[in-house]
Amino acid sequence: MKTIGLLGGMSWESTAEYYRLLNELTRDRLGGLHSARCVLYSVDFAEIEHLQAEGRWAEAGEVLAEAAQRLEAAGADLVLICTNTMHKVADRVQAGLSVPLLHLADATADAVKATGLTRVGLLGTAFTMEQEFYRGRLAASGLEVRVPDAAGRGLVHRIIYEELCRGIVREESRAAYQRVIAELVAGGAEGIILGCTEIELLIGAGDSPVPVFPTARIHAEAAVEAALSAAPRLPSPPGGVFALDRPPA
Ligand code: GLU
Repeated sequence: MKTIGLLGGMSWESTAEYYRLLNELTRDRLGGLHSARCVLYSVDFAEIEHLQAEGRWAEAGEVLAEAAQRLEAAGADLVLICTNTMHKVADRVQAGLSVPLLHLADATADAVKATGLTRVGLLGTAFTMEQEFYRGRLAASGLEVRVPDAAGRGLVHRIIYEELCRGIVREESRAAYQRVIAELVAGGAEGIILGCTEIELLIGAGDSPVPVFPTARIHAEAAVEAALSAAPRLPSPPGGVFALDRPPA
């Protein structure tokens, strides 16, 4: 079993969910007392949120890249950034690692495509719904992505930061999300990506007339799959896979 590195705390409400899911999924696969081998680096989310709000993404990238290196040093064989939004700096994080970063948008796109759907609504923070780093990656993998109108995006974003990341789950907010989902479905969405790892604390399959794709669960499933795959981990020698000590004769 490989060791899963969790870059979490963004917010810890959803990181706790990741930890539960990794262990449940591992137990389901292996039975008995098996649980996930993992290491967690949990940041102070107030510091990260401050950098987000000020658009200081490069600095946030440095903070997360250093944290990810600590995970690798602690034995992680693969790393998860436990938030959709902070995949904005995924390339910077991966650049500092020699182990793979399991990209959340890729895992999500694979999960959607496995159902045969292509036109999806995306809910998440304003950064995730409005910027290219996430939508563009979904689109590049063949999905047609729709987001709520400006009022809907504002509402979804506000509830994430003011409620869900603080452990507050309100019935009125669930009803508000259901209305946003209904508008996306009326506009043609065949499925809804819960593209913020806290949204699945509020919204489940029963809250939507079309399938929902909970990204913390999808990410955890992909991680357990990778951790339990029989494939050996091949170390990449400096200079590339085919680097030789001396030129071939
Ligand atoms: N966990 C959230 C996400 O998946 C939002 C918190 C954050 O800004 O990282 O995007």
